[in-house]
Amino acid sequence: MRLLVVEDEPQLTLRLQQALEAVGFAVDVAYDGEEGLYLGETEAYDAVVLDLGLPKLDGVSVLGRWREMGRAMPVLVLTARNRWADKSAAFAAGADDYVTKPFEMDEVVTRIRALIRRAAGHASPEITCGPLRLDTIGGRVSLDGMPVQLTAQEFRILSYLAHHQGRVVGRGELVEHVYDRNADPDSNVLDVLVARIRRKLKADLIHTMRGQGWRMEPPNNAG
Ligand code: CA
Repeated sequence: MRLLVVEDEPQLTLRLQQALEAVGFAVDVAYDGEEGLYLGETEAYDAVVLDLGLPKLDGVSVLGRWREMGRAMPVLVLTARNRWADKSAAFAAGADDYVTKPFEMDEVVTRIRALIRRAAGHASPEITCGPLRLDTIGGRVSLDGMPVQLTAQEFRILSYLAHHQGRVVGRGELVEHVYDRNADPDSNVLDVLVARIRRKLKADLIHTMRGQGWRMEPPNNAG
């Protein structure tokens, strides 16, 4: 899963980036509204953390422009503005959630995970696929009740495939959602990572669709 953080305060941006990366997200950052608008328009994000008071273009305008263009990613507004008028304007522009500064990092992480899960069409905080359980709030994976240890990269791939299980996820789509824009992954690195995840799962849950990508589904649905 890949996030965009649009925030002009460098220390706070760094804190957010580090905390979000530590729990397994790929993170891009933008320090003003114009750069944020551009990235949200051209890159694939699973969710966005958006400040309102931004240089060049304010957050409400950025959000409104994304929605006009049909960009549908969930957006959590993170701002010091706590008046209802500001909240109302943000929701009217297309915000999905709103957290005021100062904030608890855990709360932001938890809300982002919930937004991503809901945007992918899952109501329950636990996404299952056969014997596999992905606890979307805790960020944990288990198989038949036993914890599965995954690297951050493996977790991002498995989490994306589990959120979008039942359909083919193409190679390009997967790359866009598991790497930040500074990464330059080798073309076969995904195959290697998926093979590694498969070995750890010891269950046939991720199917390679030759020339198309991968599809995750419970064993009894395979065909
Ligand atoms: Ca600001």
